[in-house]
Amino acid sequence: MTQPAVVPCQYRTGKTLGSGTYAIVKEAVHIKTGEYYACKVINKKLMEGREYMVRNEIAVLKKVSRGCPNIVTLHDYFETSHNLYLCFDLCTGGELFDRICAKGNYYEADAAGLVRTIFTAVKYVHGCGIVHRDLKPENLLFRTKDEDADIMIADFGLSRIMDDHLLTEICGTPGYMAPEIFKKTGHGKPVDVWAMGVITYFLLCGYTPFDRDTQQQEMEAILAGDYKFEPEEYWANVSDTARDFVSACLTIDPASRPTCEEALQHKWLSSDFPHYVPDP
Ligand code: ADP
Ligand code: MG
Repeated sequence: MTQPAVVPCQYRTGKTLGSGTYAIVKEAVHIKTGEYYACKVINKKLMEGREYMVRNEIAVLKKVSRGCPNIVTLHDYFETSHNLYLCFDLCTGGELFDRICAKGNYYEADAAGLVRTIFTAVKYVHGCGIVHRDLKPENLLFRTKDEDADIMIADFGLSRIMDDHLLTEICGTPGYMAPEIFKKTGHGKPVDVWAMGVITYFLLCGYTPFDRDTQQQEMEAILAGDYKFEPEEYWANVSDTARDFVSACLTIDPASRPTCEEALQHKWLSSDFPHYVPDP
């Protein structure tokens, strides 16, 4: 995909920050102000027939951006004959995914801090009547390179504004998808709580709970809720309370799964829970 060096007169694009199926995200500087942004460039031809997805992403972002400090803000959007451009706050700290990979795993106390912040933002999203549907460490970005930088929810490309009807289309990223999505029995906000369970598991041990050799096996494991806190050496320093939190989020029945509000009240996320701190 070739991009013009200058985005409609106002921005100059620079290095690529990331990419997905339909979009490439580039650093962009606003020529007049010198401010830096992240510009999601979506190729119209690749999106043909699915333009509604981008319109939906913009509509959702308009509802949630600015309302919560941990959601990326959409500043601007425009189009040319070839591309659609969405300009966001630039997060220079990279993806949570890369930080987990670099560390191996997070200490429990740090993981709990991140999970509390993300859950608070997801609760806000749900309160706006929106389900994100693609929560995963690749879509959670750090605002700066600092170790304690704010974490931000990005990529509302698969999100939906909910009405009284449950959603039925199969979508998401397989390892993070809740069982009810595969069952096609209808899904809604509880899918984000399930994904948070997978993310919490990943933060604590450095691998995901349902990773299998084939996608079929992965789906079967998800449908059966078949995961373990193993191998033991990766879980030795993780408290029973943390395991209980993950298990609650990974409840197969969406009606019995905690809501964001309930998850936030779990003992593991309370500020006075004595998290294991390793010796220096
Ligand atoms: P897709 O729908 O194609 O997955 P995303 O919105 O997730 O698109 O963006 C793809 C990648 O681009 C992200 O995983 C991230 O690495 C990078 N990215 C997205 N938004 C920003 C941003 N605001 N600041 C910095 N990098 C970003
Ligand atoms: Mg993405």
